[in-house]
Amino acid sequence: MYTGTRALSGRNVLQRVEDMSANPTIRSFGPYAIACAGCGVAISTRRGAVLYDDCRDTWESHKTTCGVLRDWNNPTSARTLTAAKRAEHERSRKASRDEALAHLMAEGYLERV
Ligand SMILES: [Zn+2]
Repeated sequence: MYTGTRALSGRNVLQRVEDMSANPTIRSFGPYAIACAGCGVAISTRRGAVLYDDCRDTWESHKTTCGVLRDWNNPTSARTLTAAKRAEHERSRKASRDEALAHLMAEGYLERV
């Protein structure tokens, strides 16, 4: 089990990583980028020294404007999220989470307890 040592923007970095790894609109993520599960475009979230920040305005605005994500929520659209795609995204987010935890451990952001 891990515990985050620094709180930034309300949630600490570990909470943000866990939130992103559970977010179905995210395909994968890194310290300064989030790949959209809908269109696959990587959105930069770099700003200052905040790592793994899913509240950056760049990502927030993409989430509301991405046509593919919008179609997923539209019951009359032919473009829906398939179970296979959903599972693929889950695997991909889990890999991002594993990489993030290793990165944060190496950088001293997390302690193992
Ligand atoms: Zn998108």
